[in-house]
Amino acid sequence: MARQIKTIGVMTSGGDSPGMNAAIRAVARACSYYNVKCIGFYRGYQGMIDNDYCEMTARSVRNIISAGGTILKSARSKEFRTPEGRKKAADNLKAIGVDAMVLIGGDGTFRGGQVFSQEYDIPVIGVPGTIDNDIAGTNYTIGYDTALNTVVEAIDKIRDTASSHDRLFFVEVMGRDAGFIALNSGVGAGAEEILIPEEDLGLDRLLESLKRSKRSGKSSSIVVVSEGDKIGKNVYQLADYVTDNLPDYDVRVTVLGHMQRGGSPTCFDRTLASRLCVKAVELLLDGEADIMVGLLNNKIVATNFEKGLEGDHSINKELLRISDILSV
Ligand code: ATP
Repeated sequence: MARQIKTIGVMTSGGDSPGMNAAIRAVARACSYYNVKCIGFYRGYQGMIDNDYCEMTARSVRNIISAGGTILKSARSKEFRTPEGRKKAADNLKAIGVDAMVLIGGDGTFRGGQVFSQEYDIPVIGVPGTIDNDIAGTNYTIGYDTALNTVVEAIDKIRDTASSHDRLFFVEVMGRDAGFIALNSGVGAGAEEILIPEEDLGLDRLLESLKRSKRSGKSSSIVVVSEGDKIGKNVYQLADYVTDNLPDYDVRVTVLGHMQRGGSPTCFDRTLASRLCVKAVELLLDGEADIMVGLLNNKIVATNFEKGLEGDHSINKELLRISDILSV
Protein backbone atom coordinates (compact mmCIF):
# COMPACT_ATOMS: atom_id res chain seq x y z
CA MET A 1 0.00 0.00 0.00
CA ALA A 2 1.26 3.48 -0.86
CA ARG A 3 2.49 5.44 2.15
CA GLN A 4 0.41 8.37 3.28
CA ILE A 5 1.75 11.68 2.01
CA LYS A 6 1.05 14.49 4.48
CA THR A 7 3.63 17.05 3.39
CA ILE A 8 4.98 17.80 -0.08
CA GLY A 9 8.06 19.95 -0.68
CA VAL A 10 8.67 22.03 -3.81
CA MET A 11 11.72 23.81 -5.19
CA THR A 12 12.99 25.42 -8.40
CA SER A 13 16.50 24.59 -9.61
CA GLY A 14 18.96 25.26 -12.44
CA GLY A 15 18.40 28.23 -14.73
CA ASP A 16 15.20 30.11 -13.96
CA SER A 17 12.47 30.11 -16.56
CA PRO A 18 9.23 32.07 -17.04
CA GLY A 19 6.36 30.02 -15.64
CA MET A 20 8.22 28.67 -12.61
CA ASN A 21 6.02 30.84 -10.38
CA ALA A 22 2.88 29.51 -12.05
CA ALA A 23 4.27 26.03 -11.30
CA ILE A 24 4.96 26.83 -7.62
CA ARG A 25 1.46 28.27 -7.32
CA ALA A 26 -0.08 25.14 -8.83
CA VAL A 27 1.81 22.86 -6.42
CA ALA A 28 0.81 24.94 -3.39
CA ARG A 29 -2.83 25.20 -4.48
CA ALA A 30 -3.13 21.51 -5.39
CA CYS A 31 -1.67 20.62 -1.98
CA SER A 32 -4.20 22.91 -0.32
CA TYR A 33 -7.04 21.36 -2.36
CA TYR A 34 -6.02 17.86 -1.24
CA ASN A 35 -5.35 18.95 2.39
CA VAL A 36 -1.63 18.32 2.20
CA LYS A 37 0.95 20.65 3.77
CA CYS A 38 3.29 22.35 1.30
CA ILE A 39 6.85 23.43 2.05
CA GLY A 40 8.85 25.58 -0.39
CA PHE A 41 12.64 25.28 -0.37
CA TYR A 42 14.72 28.28 -1.43
CA ARG A 43 17.48 28.04 -4.06
CA GLY A 44 16.78 24.52 -5.27
CA TYR A 45 18.83 21.68 -3.82
CA GLN A 46 20.92 24.16 -1.83
CA GLY A 47 17.88 25.14 0.24
CA MET A 48 17.22 21.48 1.00
CA ILE A 49 20.82 21.17 2.22
CA ASP A 50 20.73 24.44 4.21
CA ASN A 51 17.23 23.78 5.57
CA ASP A 52 16.10 27.09 4.11
CA TYR A 53 12.36 26.81 3.62
CA CYS A 54 8.94 28.37 4.17
CA GLU A 55 5.45 26.99 4.49
CA MET A 56 3.34 27.66 1.40
CA THR A 57 -0.40 28.07 1.50
CA ALA A 58 -3.03 28.74 -1.15
CA ARG A 59 -2.90 32.42 -0.18
CA SER A 60 0.88 32.75 -0.02
CA VAL A 61 1.07 32.17 -3.78
CA ARG A 62 -1.47 34.84 -4.71
CA ASN A 63 -0.64 37.10 -7.68
CA ILE A 64 2.45 35.23 -8.78
CA ILE A 65 1.05 33.45 -11.84
CA SER A 66 2.04 36.34 -14.10
CA ALA A 67 5.48 36.99 -12.61
CA GLY A 68 8.72 35.93 -14.28
CA GLY A 69 11.58 34.39 -12.29
CA THR A 70 10.85 32.29 -9.24
CA ILE A 71 9.80 33.47 -5.77
CA LEU A 72 11.63 30.44 -4.34
CA LYS A 73 14.80 31.55 -6.15
CA SER A 74 16.98 29.13 -8.04
CA ALA A 75 20.57 27.94 -7.81
CA ARG A 76 23.07 25.42 -9.08
CA SER A 77 24.26 23.46 -6.04
CA LYS A 78 27.72 21.91 -6.15
CA GLU A 79 27.15 20.38 -2.73
CA PHE A 80 24.17 18.34 -3.91
CA ARG A 81 26.45 16.57 -6.38
CA THR A 82 28.24 14.99 -3.38
CA PRO A 83 26.84 12.10 -1.30
CA GLU A 84 27.41 14.20 1.85
CA GLY A 85 25.32 17.06 0.46
CA ARG A 86 22.50 14.74 -0.53
CA LYS A 87 22.57 13.13 2.93
CA LYS A 88 22.17 16.54 4.58
CA ALA A 89 19.19 17.22 2.32
CA ALA A 90 17.57 13.86 3.08
CA ASP A 91 18.14 14.27 6.84
CA ASN A 92 16.53 17.72 6.72
CA LEU A 93 13.50 16.50 4.79
CA LYS A 94 12.99 13.68 7.30
CA ALA A 95 13.41 16.03 10.27
CA ILE A 96 10.83 18.53 8.93
CA GLY A 97 8.49 15.72 7.92
CA VAL A 98 8.56 16.28 4.15
CA ASP A 99 7.27 13.03 2.64
CA ALA A 100 7.80 13.77 -1.05
CA MET A 101 9.25 16.44 -3.35
CA VAL A 102 8.24 18.19 -6.57
CA LEU A 103 11.43 19.25 -8.38
CA ILE A 104 10.98 22.01 -10.96
CA GLY A 105 13.98 22.41 -13.26
CA GLY A 106 15.89 21.16 -16.25
CA ASP A 107 17.76 17.97 -17.12
CA GLY A 108 20.41 18.55 -14.43
CA THR A 109 17.71 18.91 -11.79
CA PHE A 110 16.19 15.63 -12.97
CA ARG A 111 19.59 13.88 -12.84
CA GLY A 112 19.97 15.10 -9.25
CA GLY A 113 16.46 13.80 -8.48
CA GLN A 114 17.28 10.45 -10.05
CA VAL A 115 20.41 9.99 -7.91
CA PHE A 116 18.60 11.19 -4.77
CA SER A 117 15.68 8.81 -5.27
CA GLN A 118 18.07 5.88 -5.74
CA GLU A 119 19.80 6.70 -2.44
CA TYR A 120 16.82 7.68 -0.26
CA ASP A 121 13.28 6.46 0.18
CA ILE A 122 11.77 9.88 -0.54
CA PRO A 123 9.49 9.99 -3.60
CA VAL A 124 10.30 12.74 -6.07
CA ILE A 125 8.58 13.92 -9.25
CA GLY A 126 10.25 16.20 -11.78
CA VAL A 127 8.46 19.03 -13.58
CA PRO A 128 10.32 20.34 -16.66
CA GLY A 129 11.06 24.04 -16.09
CA THR A 130 13.73 25.37 -18.45
CA ILE A 131 13.79 27.57 -21.52
CA ASP A 132 15.98 24.99 -23.31
CA ASN A 133 13.19 22.52 -24.21
CA ASP A 134 15.81 19.77 -24.09
CA ILE A 135 13.94 17.06 -22.17
CA ALA A 136 12.64 14.00 -23.99
CA GLY A 137 9.68 13.26 -21.71
CA THR A 138 7.79 16.36 -22.86
CA ASN A 139 7.11 18.16 -26.11
CA TYR A 140 7.45 21.48 -24.29
CA THR A 141 9.21 22.64 -21.14
CA ILE A 142 7.85 25.47 -18.99
CA GLY A 143 9.41 28.75 -20.14
CA TYR A 144 10.31 27.71 -23.66
CA ASP A 145 7.29 29.34 -25.29
CA THR A 146 7.88 32.62 -23.45
CA ALA A 147 11.58 32.59 -24.38
CA LEU A 148 10.68 32.03 -28.05
CA ASN A 149 8.32 34.98 -28.01
CA THR A 150 10.94 37.17 -26.30
CA VAL A 151 13.50 36.24 -28.94
CA VAL A 152 11.12 36.81 -31.85
CA GLU A 153 10.15 40.21 -30.46
CA ALA A 154 13.84 41.14 -30.10
CA ILE A 155 14.69 39.98 -33.64
CA ASP A 156 11.73 41.93 -35.04
CA LYS A 157 13.26 45.05 -33.50
CA ILE A 158 16.73 44.22 -34.76
CA ARG A 159 15.20 43.73 -38.22
CA ASP A 160 13.98 47.33 -38.15
CA THR A 161 17.47 48.69 -37.77
CA ALA A 162 18.99 46.05 -40.06
CA SER A 163 16.70 47.07 -42.88
CA SER A 164 17.04 50.84 -42.23
CA HIS A 165 20.83 50.60 -42.45
CA ASP A 166 21.13 47.73 -44.96
CA ARG A 167 22.98 45.60 -42.42
CA LEU A 168 23.60 41.95 -41.70
CA PHE A 169 23.00 41.01 -38.05
CA PHE A 170 24.23 37.88 -36.32
CA VAL A 171 21.89 37.32 -33.38
CA GLU A 172 23.10 34.88 -30.76
CA VAL A 173 20.41 33.08 -28.76
CA MET A 174 20.59 30.57 -25.90
CA GLY A 175 21.06 26.86 -26.57
CA ARG A 176 24.46 25.29 -25.79
CA ASP A 177 23.47 21.77 -26.72
CA ALA A 178 20.10 22.16 -28.41
CA GLY A 179 18.92 24.38 -31.23
CA PHE A 180 15.23 24.53 -30.32
CA ILE A 181 15.22 28.26 -29.54
CA ALA A 182 17.33 29.22 -32.57
CA LEU A 183 15.41 27.07 -35.01
CA ASN A 184 11.90 28.01 -34.00
CA SER A 185 12.59 31.69 -33.38
CA GLY A 186 14.57 31.83 -36.63
CA VAL A 187 11.63 30.54 -38.64
CA GLY A 188 9.22 32.71 -36.63
CA ALA A 189 11.26 35.86 -37.22
CA GLY A 190 12.00 35.10 -40.85
CA ALA A 191 15.79 34.78 -40.45
CA GLU A 192 17.88 34.25 -43.58
CA GLU A 193 20.01 31.57 -41.92
CA ILE A 194 19.87 29.57 -38.69
CA LEU A 195 22.94 27.98 -37.10
CA ILE A 196 22.26 25.21 -34.56
CA PRO A 197 24.39 22.65 -32.67
CA GLU A 198 22.64 19.70 -34.32
CA GLU A 199 23.66 20.62 -37.87
CA ASP A 200 26.95 22.10 -39.07
CA LEU A 201 25.99 24.34 -41.94
CA GLY A 202 29.64 25.00 -42.80
CA LEU A 203 31.28 28.35 -43.47
CA ASP A 204 31.25 27.95 -47.26
CA ARG A 205 27.53 27.37 -47.33
CA LEU A 206 26.94 30.34 -45.09
CA LEU A 207 28.93 32.61 -47.43
CA GLU A 208 27.17 31.14 -50.45
CA SER A 209 23.77 31.73 -48.87
CA LEU A 210 24.63 35.35 -48.01
CA LYS A 211 25.88 35.98 -51.55
CA ARG A 212 22.65 34.52 -52.88
CA SER A 213 20.66 36.83 -50.58
CA LYS A 214 22.49 39.87 -51.95
CA ARG A 215 21.98 38.72 -55.54
CA SER A 216 18.26 38.23 -54.93
CA GLY A 217 17.96 41.89 -53.94
CA LYS A 218 17.91 41.65 -50.15
CA SER A 219 19.45 44.66 -48.51
CA SER A 220 19.44 43.34 -44.93
CA SER A 221 19.80 39.92 -43.37
CA ILE A 222 19.43 38.21 -40.01
CA VAL A 223 21.39 35.08 -39.09
CA VAL A 224 20.24 33.44 -35.85
CA VAL A 225 23.09 31.63 -34.10
CA SER A 226 22.64 29.14 -31.29
CA GLU A 227 25.28 29.53 -28.54
CA GLY A 228 26.46 25.98 -29.14
CA ASP A 229 26.44 25.89 -32.95
CA LYS A 230 29.17 23.74 -34.47
CA ILE A 231 30.42 26.02 -37.24
CA GLY A 232 33.68 26.42 -35.27
CA LYS A 233 33.61 30.19 -34.70
CA ASN A 234 31.85 32.21 -32.06
CA VAL A 235 29.42 34.89 -33.15
CA TYR A 236 32.05 37.68 -33.14
CA GLN A 237 34.54 35.59 -35.13
CA LEU A 238 31.77 34.77 -37.56
CA ALA A 239 31.06 38.46 -38.05
CA ASP A 240 34.78 39.11 -38.74
CA TYR A 241 34.95 36.18 -41.11
CA VAL A 242 31.98 37.41 -43.14
CA THR A 243 33.32 40.98 -43.16
CA ASP A 244 36.66 39.69 -44.50
CA ASN A 245 35.08 37.51 -47.17
CA LEU A 246 32.06 39.60 -48.16
CA PRO A 247 33.16 43.22 -47.77
CA ASP A 248 29.87 44.43 -49.26
CA TYR A 249 28.13 43.45 -46.03
CA ASP A 250 27.94 45.85 -43.08
CA VAL A 251 27.94 43.30 -40.26
CA ARG A 252 26.77 43.68 -36.63
CA VAL A 253 26.38 41.29 -33.70
CA THR A 254 23.68 41.16 -31.01
CA VAL A 255 23.91 38.67 -28.14
CA LEU A 256 20.48 38.43 -26.51
CA GLY A 257 21.78 36.77 -23.32
CA HIS A 258 19.79 36.57 -20.12
CA MET A 259 16.86 38.67 -21.30
CA GLN A 260 15.70 35.37 -22.81
CA ARG A 261 15.09 33.92 -19.35
CA GLY A 262 13.01 36.80 -18.02
CA GLY A 263 9.56 38.26 -18.43
CA SER A 264 5.96 37.45 -17.72
CA PRO A 265 5.12 33.93 -18.91
CA THR A 266 2.86 33.43 -21.93
CA CYS A 267 -0.57 31.89 -21.45
CA PHE A 268 0.82 28.66 -22.89
CA ASP A 269 3.54 28.44 -20.22
CA ARG A 270 1.15 29.32 -17.39
CA THR A 271 -1.33 26.68 -18.49
CA LEU A 272 1.40 24.09 -19.02
CA ALA A 273 2.84 24.78 -15.55
CA SER A 274 -0.62 24.54 -13.98
CA ARG A 275 -1.46 21.24 -15.68
CA LEU A 276 1.90 19.60 -14.99
CA CYS A 277 2.04 20.57 -11.32
CA VAL A 278 -1.51 19.52 -10.42
CA LYS A 279 -0.68 16.17 -12.02
CA ALA A 280 2.63 15.94 -10.13
CA VAL A 281 0.87 16.39 -6.78
CA GLU A 282 -1.85 13.90 -7.72
CA LEU A 283 0.71 11.31 -8.80
CA LEU A 284 2.63 11.66 -5.52
CA LEU A 285 -0.62 11.21 -3.58
CA ASP A 286 -1.31 8.10 -5.67
CA GLY A 287 2.00 6.63 -4.53
CA GLU A 288 3.96 7.31 -7.73
CA ALA A 289 7.62 8.27 -7.49
CA ASP A 290 10.83 8.86 -9.40
CA ILE A 291 9.21 10.02 -12.60
CA MET A 292 8.79 13.24 -14.52
CA VAL A 293 5.59 14.68 -15.91
CA GLY A 294 5.41 16.11 -19.39
CA LEU A 295 3.09 17.12 -22.19
CA LEU A 296 3.15 14.57 -25.00
CA ASN A 297 0.64 14.95 -27.83
CA ASN A 298 -1.41 17.28 -25.64
CA LYS A 299 -1.74 14.72 -22.83
CA ILE A 300 -0.04 14.98 -19.45
CA VAL A 301 2.12 11.88 -19.30
CA ALA A 302 4.45 10.46 -16.63
CA THR A 303 7.79 9.06 -17.80
CA ASN A 304 10.54 7.52 -15.71
CA PHE A 305 13.55 9.79 -15.30
CA GLU A 306 15.84 7.64 -17.41
CA LYS A 307 13.56 7.64 -20.43
CA GLY A 308 12.65 11.28 -19.87
CA LEU A 309 16.33 12.22 -19.97
CA GLU A 310 17.79 9.82 -22.50
CA GLY A 311 14.88 9.29 -24.89
CA ASP A 312 14.75 10.72 -28.36
CA HIS A 313 13.97 14.43 -28.38
CA SER A 314 15.49 15.76 -31.54
CA ILE A 315 14.80 19.07 -33.19
CA ASN A 316 12.47 19.13 -36.16
CA LYS A 317 14.91 19.31 -39.07
CA GLU A 318 12.00 19.92 -41.40
CA LEU A 319 12.11 23.48 -40.05
CA LEU A 320 15.58 23.94 -41.58
CA ARG A 321 14.13 23.01 -44.97
CA ILE A 322 11.22 25.41 -44.45
CA SER A 323 13.66 28.16 -43.50
CA ASP A 324 15.72 27.47 -46.63
CA ILE A 325 12.68 27.72 -48.88
CA LEU A 326 11.38 30.87 -47.24
CA SER A 327 14.67 32.74 -47.24
CA VAL A 328 14.87 32.58 -51.03
P1 ATP B 1 18.89 24.41 -17.05
O1 ATP B 1 18.38 23.49 -18.11
O2 ATP B 1 18.12 25.67 -17.00
O3 ATP B 1 20.37 24.61 -17.08
P2 ATP B 1 19.20 22.38 -15.07
O4 ATP B 1 18.27 21.80 -14.09
O5 ATP B 1 19.67 21.50 -16.18
O6 ATP B 1 18.56 23.71 -15.63
P3 ATP B 1 21.80 22.22 -13.78
O7 ATP B 1 22.66 23.25 -13.17
O8 ATP B 1 22.38 21.34 -14.83
O9 ATP B 1 20.48 22.97 -14.30
O10 ATP B 1 21.25 21.25 -12.61
C1 ATP B 1 20.65 21.81 -11.46
C2 ATP B 1 21.25 21.21 -10.22
O11 ATP B 1 20.96 19.81 -10.17
C3 ATP B 1 22.77 21.25 -10.15
O12 ATP B 1 23.25 22.51 -9.73
C4 ATP B 1 23.06 20.17 -9.13
O13 ATP B 1 22.85 20.63 -7.83
C5 ATP B 1 21.98 19.13 -9.45
N1 ATP B 1 22.54 18.05 -10.29
C6 ATP B 1 22.73 18.04 -11.61
N2 ATP B 1 23.29 16.89 -12.04
C7 ATP B 1 23.46 16.14 -10.93
C8 ATP B 1 23.99 14.83 -10.67
N3 ATP B 1 24.44 14.05 -11.66
N4 ATP B 1 23.99 14.39 -9.38
C9 ATP B 1 23.51 15.16 -8.39
N5 ATP B 1 23.01 16.39 -8.56
C10 ATP B 1 22.98 16.88 -9.79
